[in-house]
Amino acid sequence: MATLLKGPEVTAALNAKLVKQTAELKAGGVYPTMAMVRVGEREEDISYERGAVKRCQHIGAAIRQYVLPLDATQESILAVIQNLNADPTVHGVLIFRPLPPHMDDAVVRNALHPSKDLDGISNASLSYVFSGISTGFPPCTAQACLEIIDYYGIGLKGRKVAVIGRSLVVGKPVSMMLLDRDATVTICHRNTANLPEICRAADVLIVAAGQAGIVDQSFLSPGQTVIDVGIHPDASGKISGDVLFDQAEPVVGAITPVPGGVGAVTTTVLIKHLVEAARRNLK
Ligand code: NAD
Repeated sequence: MATLLKGPEVTAALNAKLVKQTAELKAGGVYPTMAMVRVGEREEDISYERGAVKRCQHIGAAIRQYVLPLDATQESILAVIQNLNADPTVHGVLIFRPLPPHMDDAVVRNALHPSKDLDGISNASLSYVFSGISTGFPPCTAQACLEIIDYYGIGLKGRKVAVIGRSLVVGKPVSMMLLDRDATVTICHRNTANLPEICRAADVLIVAAGQAGIVDQSFLSPGQTVIDVGIHPDASGKISGDVLFDQAEPVVGAITPVPGGVGAVTTTVLIKHLVEAARRNLK
């Protein structure tokens, strides 16, 4: 039986630190404040927003919500972002995406100043991930994988890691972060030959393919650590991952459940980035 790498345990440990750091910031006159910018009323965004509000309240940080109508112009969202960039009382910003099709995603995300870009969406933030400069923030999901690995003391130095997926949100940044931690990383994608064989040979397997259940027993070997980033709700709302959990759990050494794994940590990482951004302000 595999060890379950439980997201809520990681979140609880992170939260304890964040509560303390927020109190220190407030004592120093800095009130960590996040702005969330949403266009339209997508249920998924609203539910994420609710979760973030709760978590901010829990650690004692403030949150401001900016909601634009679905037919808002690109100029109007850019004006909101420019005001937030210039506002010294706002330490971090989250912009909900995808944006409506009449907005240019690259123009909007690159308008955000990297020092306030809590989810690492701008090209400048991503270049920091690739160059190893620590002043930007990596995408929260990629960082959430590392938080789980670190919390459970899973070694990376000199170990073989396979990553399935090469998106800018998860696959590419997490691969660079693992490389930075001295792992030997193989980045896999739709055209990778011998995918099960590469995955079986890895000590750590990170799966971010966005394909429900693509990882079956043929991808796995005893003792491996498996981090499943996939989130797939079925018609009844039940959530599963990219890995067939029932096939994986009897074989591997450790695995993140879905739900209750990476997804549970991602929002807390957002708040962690907010507190870090505010701490830089204090310095
Ligand atoms: P994406 O669709 O942008 O990228 C998927 C990547 O996987 C692509 O690079 C593609 O080449 C690769 N891929 C797809 N099918 C493959 C296959 N059969 N074999 C090998 N490679 C394959 O997706 P994304 O935005 O990176 O998200 C990946 C998954 O993570 C999704 O299920 C998404 O819902 C989930 N996600 C979870 C969180 C979280 O907090 N847990 C956050 C963001 C995304």
